[in-house]
Amino acid sequence: MYDPLTSTYSFACPHGRAARVPLSSFRRLERLPGAAHPAVYRVLFDCRCGEDHLGLVSHDDLDWAPLGAAAEISFRNLMTDRDDSLAIELTDLAAAKIRAGEWPWSFFCLHEGRPRPMTPSALTLVAPGAIARRDGSFGIAVRCPGCSALSVNLVTQEHVDIPFWNDTRVGVLDHVLPSGADRVLDAFCAELLSARFDEKRLDLEL
Ligand SMILES: [Zn+2]
Ligand SMILES: [Zn+2]
Repeated sequence: MYDPLTSTYSFACPHGRAARVPLSSFRRLERLPGAAHPAVYRVLFDCRCGEDHLGLVSHDDLDWAPLGAAAEISFRNLMTDRDDSLAIELTDLAAAKIRAGEWPWSFFCLHEGRPRPMTPSALTLVAPGAIARRDGSFGIAVRCPGCSALSVNLVTQEHVDIPFWNDTRVGVLDHVLPSGADRVLDAFCAELLSARFDEKRLDLEL
């Protein structure tokens, strides 16, 4: 499902081959009611075939596989001459970074006025829309794991796709998204082009 070597998730494409897409190709993410162990999320993603499709992803795959937890790859350990699991190596590495105060993903919470750690399941909307302001930037709407407020940040593609890559500065939309919009993704994309963003530093204090 998730390939830690290419940082991509795989989904079925109705036009043929499996689609491998990074997190920044997600467009909308919602937790399905019901399933809890594990929770299941419905993803609208921008497929390489040019269309958007719906796919399902489990909470484990979404949040923990990028840290190596589900890697089914082994490698020959030259020190012990045994085949070791890459999953253990990758999760050990991730755990060491988290202990050192680095978090795989972060964002700036408008409601709390400070940077916060997050995981991919907190992403609600993603759009490459703000081309007019900063080439290649992505708008993300994040549901804060701490206070549940929805904040919109403007970040680089690497900030979304690569665990432990955190932009030092991000753009922060200066108001909350209008709630209850029928076409929330369209409204979000329009905001990215027209609204005002304040620049904030993203220094996490864990
Ligand atoms: Zn497709
Ligand atoms: Zn918050």
